Amino acid sequence: MTLIDTHTHLDFDDFDADRQTVLSHCKQLGVERMVVLGVYYRNLQRVWNLARTEPQVYAALGLHPIYLDEHRPEHLHALRDRLSTLAGHPKLCAVGEIGLDYYVESLDRERQLEIFDSQLQMAAEFDLPALLHVRRSHADTIATLKRFKLKRSGIVHAFAGSREEAREYIKLGFKLGLGGAATWPQALRMHRVIAELPLDSVVLETDSPDMAPAMYPGVRNSPEHLPQICDALAKLMDISPERLARASTDNANEIFGWQ
Ligand SMILES: [Zn+2]
Repeated sequence: MTLIDTHTHLDFDDFDADRQTVLSHCKQLGVERMVVLGVYYRNLQRVWNLARTEPQVYAALGLHPIYLDEHRPEHLHALRDRLSTLAGHPKLCAVGEIGLDYYVESLDRERQLEIFDSQLQMAAEFDLPALLHVRRSHADTIATLKRFKLKRSGIVHAFAGSREEAREYIKLGFKLGLGGAATWPQALRMHRVIAELPLDSVVLETDSPDMAPAMYPGVRNSPEHLPQICDALAKLMDISPERLARASTDNANEIFGWQ
């Protein structure tokens, strides 16, 4: 069974002590590729270094809405320069993690929208998919994506929306990222939505070190947990884990343009 973790923060210092062990364990487990994402200016170089040196790791570069107060106009310029320098590099796979977070009320929505817009423009300009963080902001996200109509679409990571919202993203060519959150028994609405998602619209992810799955409560999440997350989600979808793994890998390959 071959798996791709489409969303992990393996560059975070949570993994400083054992990153190499995690990577070699992933290889044994069949987690053959993973996408590590930029979240603020400070980690863009770290993410790129990891992608450059580790065969399993691919980089997405972007500025995350949660760190809004840290972002400066020059960081957007620096991001653009980097994307332009690295354009066409096989280890650069997307613009991300970008998006809108309306759950945290202190984050200025107008500024979030501006920064989201600028980064979607970069995805369009450099012909890259976009990896999205969307929390309580589906309506604005969908409206913004409809304006851009990205050729390469992307992934709505940690999707927890409704059936109707899923349909809108799918119409726009986006895949829905599923991970640990849906493995919890109390996530009943998510269970119902997931059970109805078309298989060609889902990709697996861990969002590690966050979003611990139900089988590893309260501990650091890791791309090593992806096979068990796949098992749990396949059960909710009433299909075999192999079938879900294959679909997720095919869908990720399609989005990232991998063979
Ligand atoms: Zn993330």
